[in-house]
Amino acid sequence: MQGDLTEFVHQIVTLFQRSAEQKGIHLRYRIGRLSQGEYAFDADKWDKILTNLLANAIKFTPKGGQVTLTGMPVWSSGEMTQVAFRLVDTGIGIPFEQQPYVFDRFYQVDSASTRAYEGTGIGLALVHELVGLLGGTITLESKVNLGTTFYLTLPIEPVSKTVNLPHIRWSTPKSNALELEV
Ligand code: ATP
Ligand code: MG
Repeated sequence: MQGDLTEFVHQIVTLFQRSAEQKGIHLRYRIGRLSQGEYAFDADKWDKILTNLLANAIKFTPKGGQVTLTGMPVWSSGEMTQVAFRLVDTGIGIPFEQQPYVFDRFYQVDSASTRAYEGTGIGLALVHELVGLLGGTITLESKVNLGTTFYLTLPIEPVSKTVNLPHIRWSTPKSNALELEV
């Protein structure tokens, strides 16, 4: 697909707004100048990646929590043009020892007997595979009872103007991010 990346991601987030509200979770989408101009990207794969990550964030965050997707501006380094996302939740977190396994097929943190959440343990394995197919990266940081952050980068094909930014500065997202309530 070729088109406005910001609008595409915005639409995906909007689809989760109702389920977040029903659960009493504040879902925010913070975007920088995600895209100036048009980019070619694999909409099917992007949709599955973002949808699975957002679904998990909402599922594993209790009432009153927050889920925030931040998109950083498109940047180019060498031959590659990429976009980076950070998805932060204030959910149950993933124990450190189990973090290496969450991208494995059928792996779920709580054992079948005490399992309180629906699902089959497929989502993150699919995400990992799709990110790999696209040539992107995905990593996570998590603390039990505090929450989980997924960092995602995905390459895209510029079809018009790009913004050249040498570094992502996650520490100061407010400086170039526009906060939107969706
Ligand atoms: P499915 O995605 O197939 O419906 P699932 O959500 O249980 O099932 P995955 O999405 O693959 O499976 O995630 C694997 C496991 O990683 C989850 O069962 C959960 O234990 C843990 N996990 C994933 N995302 C989060 C998150 N945001 N917060 C806490 N734990 C998470
Ligand atoms: Mg899942």
